[in-house]
Amino acid sequence: MKYFLLAICLIFTGCQTIPYTKMTDDQWEIKYVLREDWIQANAINEALKLKANTIKNIFNQKFNHKVLITIYPDLKAYNNARVFLGAKPIDMINSGCSNGNNILVCSGGEINIAVHEYTHIVIFSIPTKPVYNSWIDESICDYIADMKWTDIKYLKQYYNLPRSNFLVSFNQDVYMARLLYYIGQYLFEVYGNEKVLALLKTRSISDGLGISEETFWKSWCNWVEKQKEV
Ligand SMILES: [Zn+2]
Repeated sequence: MKYFLLAICLIFTGCQTIPYTKMTDDQWEIKYVLREDWIQANAINEALKLKANTIKNIFNQKFNHKVLITIYPDLKAYNNARVFLGAKPIDMINSGCSNGNNILVCSGGEINIAVHEYTHIVIFSIPTKPVYNSWIDESICDYIADMKWTDIKYLKQYYNLPRSNFLVSFNQDVYMARLLYYIGQYLFEVYGNEKVLALLKTRSISDGLGISEETFWKSWCNWVEKQKEV
C-alpha cells in the first residue's frame, strides 16, 4: 500500500513538475510550459527558419551559437524571468528580452518578437560595443523582424521628431517606438547592408555612414516624404 501511494504521488508530482515541452532545431531550442503554446512555438520555429540565415548573412556569417527561446505562460512568470536577467518588468505581453543566448517571450505575444530578439543576439556577437535600446539597434531589429507598428499615414504625421531625440537614444517614446520599422527600412534602402554593418560597429553616423548628422536627418525627412500611402 505504501509503495502504491508513493507511486501515485510520484506520478502526480511528476506531471506537475514537468517544466517544459521542447522543440529543437540545430540552431535553436524553444521551450514552453502551456500545452497550447505549441502553436506559438511552432510559429516561432517557422519564422526563424525563414529569417535566421538572412540575419546571419547580413550581420555575422560566423554566428553559430545555439539560442534558447522560452515562452513563459503568463506575464508574471515572464516578468520574474526578465528581472532575473536584469531587465525591468513590463506590463505588456508584446515584448521580448534577450541576454547571452537566451530569448524570453510571453505566451500570446507577437511571433516576430523572437525574430527581433534573435537579430539582437546575432548583432551582439559582432565585435562592437553593444548598446541596448539604441535607435540604431531597435530600428534594425524591428525592420528585419517585419515589426511594423504603424502605417505610412502615421509615419508622415510624426516623422519629423526633434533631431536630438531621434539621434541620441531610443527612449520608449510611443512615436519613436512606432517609427522604428521605417527607420530600419530607410537605413537598409538608402545605405545598404555594408554601411548598416559599419553603423552598428561604430555607433556613429559620421564614421559608419560617412555623412554628417544634419545630412542624415534631411535625407530621412526626404525619404519619408517620398513614401506612398497604400
Ligand atoms: Zn529590441
